Amino acid sequence: MEFFGAAERKEINDVLETGILFRYNHEAQRNNIYKAREFEAEVAKLVGANYAHAVSSGSTAVLCALAAAGIGAGDEVIVPPFTYIATVEAVLMAGALPVFADIDDTLCLSADGIRKAISPKTKAVCLVHMCGQMADMDAIMAVIQENNLVLVEDAGQAMGASYKGISTGLWGKTGAYSFDFFKIATAGEGGIMVTNDETAYKHADSYSDHGHDHIGTNRGMEQHPIMGFNYRISELHAAVGVVQTRRVPEIIQRNNIHKTQLLSALGQVPGLSFARIPDTNGDSATFLNLLLPDTETAGRVIAELNAAGVGGFNYWFTNMYHFINQWTHLKNMHTAAALPIEKFGAPQDYNNLDIPNAQAVVGRLISFGIRATWTTDEVDALAANIEAAVRKATLVEA
Ligand SMILES: *Cc1c(COP(=O)(O)O)cnc(C)c1O
Repeated sequence: MEFFGAAERKEINDVLETGILFRYNHEAQRNNIYKAREFEAEVAKLVGANYAHAVSSGSTAVLCALAAAGIGAGDEVIVPPFTYIATVEAVLMAGALPVFADIDDTLCLSADGIRKAISPKTKAVCLVHMCGQMADMDAIMAVIQENNLVLVEDAGQAMGASYKGISTGLWGKTGAYSFDFFKIATAGEGGIMVTNDETAYKHADSYSDHGHDHIGTNRGMEQHPIMGFNYRISELHAAVGVVQTRRVPEIIQRNNIHKTQLLSALGQVPGLSFARIPDTNGDSATFLNLLLPDTETAGRVIAELNAAGVGGFNYWFTNMYHFINQWTHLKNMHTAAALPIEKFGAPQDYNNLDIPNAQAVVGRLISFGIRATWTTDEVDALAANIEAAVRKATLVEA
């Protein structure tokens, strides 16, 4: 949600001029304009994927990623308790059963947490790279391989981040990114599923369009090897996504400059530390993630930040919908996605989960979205405001 300009307008205009807002077929009228395909090619190039498939949202991209990885009815899928709720909903929509495991100071699932949550029914891990940074991949891949699990990555918040040079989304069978309005690049709404596996790609391509095989040029004569649903992206959304994706390397570069400046200004402030980033070279730097010594102190820092009119959000004291404590509907899971979980037998007591680190870490976290468009002075001012808030909040009751 950083920049929009003439380039986005031109791409949209290309589509409007042909009048073909549908991504498939209509070869005679579309003047060879295929924005969804271009969008997919841009994302594949950005992250180094063999295949990318654009869909209507990040949420449906996670669902397609799960379905294409072979996750289905009754499978247990390990998920984090700190993520956007869409991850859990996507598991339910796939017919699978979410099992919550613990996270660590990377803000992502930990290898230990995953290990403890594994049961004989565990099929997959849906790993979420939270707040712009990646999980501790060496340790995670070890537990995935030891236990022969399928890895699906929800990189809704971490497109462009990497670990040891390999992008989010490409560590397991399939991965997903979001292009909603709040993400590093936006198409208004939209999402992309990525994979290096041709079979998984073809499955997602059919699944997201009622099972169409997309062979030939006559939609009415296509085969439907599977059932799916409509998760298609429109050409208008894809047109914006094309340009936004091209902007990502510059956004990441600028974000990293700002984040380095913030970290060096705040590095010596007593009581302040930062979420661990296993490979700082691969940080997308879309967030500055502060950790305070405890939840109470974080609450006081938030109060000071609010009083000073400075941004920053905490997932514990607000209803940001990213942490399990806010998901009261888990207790009876009667959403649209409420596939008959009781019929399968709930794999866990969702009211009584064993996730001590998540409960400890999330309360201590205060995150700031980093904006590529900031000036050096704006970054300095933010650092000064954060330092002042932390110093005031940690002096109280000293
Ligand atoms: C934003 C987000 C999604 C959902 O993306 P939408 O495009 O809003 O549907 C899924 N997972 C995570 C981790 C997200 O941050």
